[in-house]
Amino acid sequence: MICEILSVGTELLLGQIANTDAQYLSRRLSEYGINLYRQTTVGDNPERVKQALSEALARCDLVITTGGLGPTEDDLTKEMVAETFALPMELHQPSLDALTQRMNRLHPGKPLTPNNLKQAYFPKGARILPNLCGTAPGCVVEAEGKAVAVLPGPPRELKDMFEHALEPYLREKTGAAIHSRFLRIFGVGESRVEDMLLDLFHLGSPTLALYCGAGEVQARLTVCLPHGQDPAPILDPVEAEIRSRLGDAVYASGRDETMPRAVLRMLEEKNLTLAVAESCTGGMLASELVDCPGASKAFREGYVTYTCAAKARVLGVPQDILEGPGPVSAPCAQAMAQGALRVSGADYALSVTGVAGPDGGTEITPVGDVFLGLAWAGGSQVQEFRFLGDRSWIRTLACVNALNMLRMHLLSRN
Ligand code: ATP
Ligand code: MG
Repeated sequence: MICEILSVGTELLLGQIANTDAQYLSRRLSEYGINLYRQTTVGDNPERVKQALSEALARCDLVITTGGLGPTEDDLTKEMVAETFALPMELHQPSLDALTQRMNRLHPGKPLTPNNLKQAYFPKGARILPNLCGTAPGCVVEAEGKAVAVLPGPPRELKDMFEHALEPYLREKTGAAIHSRFLRIFGVGESRVEDMLLDLFHLGSPTLALYCGAGEVQARLTVCLPHGQDPAPILDPVEAEIRSRLGDAVYASGRDETMPRAVLRMLEEKNLTLAVAESCTGGMLASELVDCPGASKAFREGYVTYTCAAKARVLGVPQDILEGPGPVSAPCAQAMAQGALRVSGADYALSVTGVAGPDGGTEITPVGDVFLGLAWAGGSQVQEFRFLGDRSWIRTLACVNALNMLRMHLLSRN
């Protein structure tokens, strides 16, 4: 199947937004072995949309459009698809009912406006793609041996519709299903991971790809199989091989299994609790933990002690540490973690103190210098890091490394 993406939106042409929809779709289509030959972008102009659509249809089997699906005047993608195939627009009653219900919830008692109504009309015979994240459903129109899939512009709606509604259609058409597994690797750089897994990149099936994240690498195994075939016999042995080569550096499997989630899960399994004391990360570590549903089972509390006075008053960091080695030092990180442990009564306390920049660096403690502390009833531990990057990147790396420090400690307890 040959496919093209047609992105509709004047903001794209003006450079006001990046075309992340096309990037997302391209990545997903390649997994299905669908050949993507071109991406085209046009503004919200009826004639140019129609022309671009006709040109694309002359070259390929499937055109996926993004944007211009909403209720306003300039949203005209669906209408242009109908005109291109000379199909009338037809009311889709279930979509109208869903729209009426949604509008009643949002604006009780207000009648639907004509431009709201427009969202329930589709080219005759279209297959409707429900929109679970917004109001405008998408559709697939099949005519003249070709197909056009009309998707919304907002990335969250686009992804959701692709995964819940268009994927089943593609699976039907290609007879194939994609199975992926993610292994999340921390503390080993991308080139080293690549080096350690080199031969596994040439297996053919499954395919192995590496993605870089904050301080981590994700290895993704993908296999495309006829619908209904179990991927485990193909994926299991390769996953086991990767795990055996990388050992404890593999901290989780699964796309959503982030470092905070992995650490919270480990704590929860052991019935342990955590408190955090933060300086340069200013609550970011606590926030990342609280982002995980169910965090309260293990996460107790956090202290943002930004000034020396706060470190002394809230965590009891001794004056001679603050005036001697200073607030960005190993003794201070240790005293912060011990203070948080004492004040919270948790089983573990993590601390972060460092120079996030861009100012405030010195020769001894340059920008990016971060001390991470970990305290528990039986002891404590401090690590120093020199991160490179801007303020937000340094803070991000500080958080994930602090969590990894706790993870490694918990593994060593086993
Ligand atoms: P709405 O119902 O919000 O009007 P729509 O389907 O009509 O959605 P557009 O009006 O074209 O889509 O775009 C709405 C918003 O979606 C844009 O302002 C932009 O933020 C985002 N968006 C649109 N196209 C893309 C794209 N190709 N990549 C990333 N974001 C996009
Ligand atoms: Mg719109």
